[in-house]
Order: sequence, then C-alpha cells, then structure tokens
Amino acid sequence: MGEIVFLGTGSAWRTPEHGCQCAICSIMRMRNEERARSSILIQSNCTLLIDCGPDLLNQMKIHNLGRPDAVLITHEHGDHFLGMDDLLAYRRTIPANQWKPIPVYASYETWKSVELRFSYLIGSLIERNIAVPNQPIVDFGDTIIPFSTDHGVTAPGSVGYVIECGASGAGKKIVYTSDFVGLPEEPDFLSNPDILIFQSHWLNEPDENRPSHMSLQRGIDYIRRWAPIEATYLIHISASDIVSGDPNNNILKKPECSNPLISPRTSVPYPTPRCQSEWQSVADTIAQDFALSCKLMVSYDGLRVSL
Ligand SMILES: [Zn+2]
Ligand SMILES: [Zn+2]
Repeated sequence: MGEIVFLGTGSAWRTPEHGCQCAICSIMRMRNEERARSSILIQSNCTLLIDCGPDLLNQMKIHNLGRPDAVLITHEHGDHFLGMDDLLAYRRTIPANQWKPIPVYASYETWKSVELRFSYLIGSLIERNIAVPNQPIVDFGDTIIPFSTDHGVTAPGSVGYVIECGASGAGKKIVYTSDFVGLPEEPDFLSNPDILIFQSHWLNEPDENRPSHMSLQRGIDYIRRWAPIEATYLIHISASDIVSGDPNNNILKKPECSNPLISPRTSVPYPTPRCQSEWQSVADTIAQDFALSCKLMVSYDGLRVSL
C-alpha cells in the first residue's frame, strides 16, 4: 500500500492571487479555497517529493513531512524549485555524523538554473543527480522514469516523471506531467498508467498559449490516448480562464479565448469553473461526454489518494 499526497495544486502565482478581484479569485476567497504551488508526495517503497516550490515549508508543516528519499524536479521555473532551501530543516535536526545529502534529480539543463541559485546546497544538503529522459532510475525500490516535455523556451530540459511503484510497495504506475504545452516524443511507457496526474492550467485553450501550458480542452486527447485505469487528477489549476460576464476579463492574466470547449452532447460551451465544486462538476460531465476510461478528478490541496 502507499499514498499520494497533493501538497499543492495551483499555478505559479498561487490562487486566489493577491489583490485580484476576478470572478475566480473572488469566489475562492469567499469559500476559503486556496491552491498552493503544485507539488506532490508519493509514498510507496520510498518517499518521493515531486517539485518543491516556494510553499514547501508551509506544506512540510501542514503535513508533518519527514525527510524524502529523493526529490524530483520537473523544470527551472520558480514555482517548482525555489523551496529547496527549506529542506535544510531535515539536516539541522539530526546528529551531524548521521546526515546524508538528499538525492535531488533534475535534467542537465534544469540543473544549470538550480545550481545558479542553490550551488551552496550541493554536497552538503542535496546530492546532484541528472534525470536523463527515458533512462530509469532504480535506486529507491520504486522505478522512476523521466520523460521529456515541451514547456517552451523558458524551461529547456523540462521533464515529467513516471513512477512504477515496486510490487512490494503499491505496485501502481503513476504518470506526472507537470507543466507542458506538448511532448517532443510520446514513449510507450506513458500509456495505461493506474493514475495520471495531469496539468490543467485552464479549462479552455487560449488563442495564444504564451506561457506554454496545457488546458483540459487539449488535454482530453492525451487522457483518451493514454487511457489511465483508475483516475486522472488535474493539477496546476490557475485563475486565468475567462468567466462569462466578469468585468475583470480584461486583466493581464486572462488571455483571449475564442474557441472554448464545446460539449458534444449539448453543442454549447461548458460553464467556466470558478471553484473546486464547479471544477469537479464540469470534470464529471466532460468525463461522461468524452467517454473517458477513468474518473476525472480535480485535485485540491491536502487531497490524499491511497495506492
Ligand atoms: Zn508551474
Ligand atoms: Zn513552468
């Protein structure tokens, strides 16, 4: 048995965004909903932390997290690695002669940025390991396979991770995409995971996808092709979808969207979800309308899923 803990399920700016009065941030604030920067913990034969953004210390406190066996970094954007300093808590609370640096994996290109910021941690707090796409990492009882993702020119060498939990642990296959706009290649090992954890930055694809993210509108094709067995969990959900009638639709974070996802059943666009219950309601309808192979779950901070 094992568990996935969704430590954060939001985008780079955390939602609701500070000072933002848009329809999404407003209703989230009213309902006390918050999405911290996206990160998950997987516990099977080992404990893996995928990404460690600026909310890490808070996430460590909320979930009383112990030292992970390894940290997997997907790419060089701040919301995915800037909390690395806070791993120091694990070093400061045990006798010095018992300490071993925490193995951290990132692609060669991603390490260039991580090293610029955190070179002083390497060797003392963290151990630098290269995640090479399509090359399994077998050191932790569960097999970890990085795969290349395309997250635009500002995130060269970005990767997602497949975790094949060993039979003596949870025995499940988990695919974690993190941020991406597409994939340079689609290896066979992405197919038929037990659980797919998938970026859904927006419901609707904007006319211009400048931040190089995935929308659920485009994601449906990936979910159908990869055909997860148990469930797909949506993460990295932003507050950037246009909401019909919202006077704040003209602010910078709301890109134009002229071709929203149309329901094949009703031939009208799905209502833009603003909060967790509206997201889950739309996701349930989409899973039915598009005959997905699995449940389509909208993750939220603190969600725990048994493996
Ligand atoms: Zn991100
Ligand atoms: Zn990113």
